[in-house]
Amino acid sequence: MKNFFLIIFTVLFTLGSSMALFPQDFSKIEIGHVKVAGTVHMIHGTDDGKSFSGGNIAVSAGKDGVVMIDSKLTPITDKVKAAIKEIGGDSPKFIINTHVHGDHIGGNAAFSKDGSLVAHTNVRKRAMGNKTEDFWPIITFDHSLSLHMNGEDIKVIHYPAGHTDGDAVIYFQGSNVVHMGDHYFSGLLPFVDLDNGGTVQGYSQNVKTVLDILPEDVKIVPGHGPLSNKDDLRTFHRMLQETTSRVTAAMKSGKSLDEIKAEGLQEEWKGWSWSFIPTERWIETIYNSYSKKQTQK
Ligand SMILES: [Zn+2]
Repeated sequence: MKNFFLIIFTVLFTLGSSMALFPQDFSKIEIGHVKVAGTVHMIHGTDDGKSFSGGNIAVSAGKDGVVMIDSKLTPITDKVKAAIKEIGGDSPKFIINTHVHGDHIGGNAAFSKDGSLVAHTNVRKRAMGNKTEDFWPIITFDHSLSLHMNGEDIKVIHYPAGHTDGDAVIYFQGSNVVHMGDHYFSGLLPFVDLDNGGTVQGYSQNVKTVLDILPEDVKIVPGHGPLSNKDDLRTFHRMLQETTSRVTAAMKSGKSLDEIKAEGLQEEWKGWSWSFIPTERWIETIYNSYSKKQTQK
C-alpha cells in the first residue's frame, strides 16, 4: 500500500511516458457519474485505496455543448469519454484545468484534439516545462475568465499561492455548483505543493475567501473525495486552521519537527490521515511552509 501511494505521488509529477511504470490495472478502475445540479454532473472514480483515477471532473452539458473541468489521469481517458456520452454530451468544446498536476490534466492531450484547453497562465508555464504541446492550455488568464454556455455564466477565478501558484476555482452560477480543484480534499488532509508555488497560508486563506462568497445551498465538487456542501467545506477550513495553529504554536515554543510529529494532530482530525497525505506529512508541510516564510523575512 505504501508503495502504491508512492507511485501515485510519482504519477502526479511526471510525464505521461512514465505512466508505463504505474502498476495499477487501469482496466479495473470504474468511473461513475452523478448529477450535481442544473447542467452540471460530476465524474468520479472508485478511489478506494486500491485504485486511483485522478481528481474529480465536473461537466456542464447542454444546448451549447460540453465544458469540462479537469481531465483525470491519462490511461482512463476512454472511460471519461464514455461517461460524458452517458451524461448526454459530445466531445468537450472547452476543458478548463484547475491546476497543473498530472491527475487533473492527464486527459488534456486526448481532449485537445477537438476542444480548447483553458487554464491560469502558470499552468501553461509549468506544463510547457514537462509536458508535450498537446497538453498546454491555449487560452490563459491571469485573474479570471468567464464562459457563457448552456444558459449559465461559468466564472473561472485564480487564487494565488495556495495548492500551487496556478489554481482556479470554477463557479457554475446558473446551476449553483462550484468545482474547488485541489483547494478542497473532502474529509482528507490536503496536499499543498510547496515546490510549485503553493503555501499553507495562502491555501487556507483561499478556502476562506471562497467560503465568504459561496451561497449557503451551493453544491461543491472537491478535487478529491465525495460531493459536498458548504458545511463540509467549513469543516475542512476549520481543520486547516486548527492543525496549522497547533503546529505553528509548537514551532514558536521551540519544538523540533520530530517532536511536533510525535505529538500528532488533535483527536478530531486523526481520521483525516490517508495513505498519500498521512498526518506526519501534513505536519511537515505546515512546518516547511511556515519556516519558508520566516526565513524570507
Ligand atoms: Zn493537485
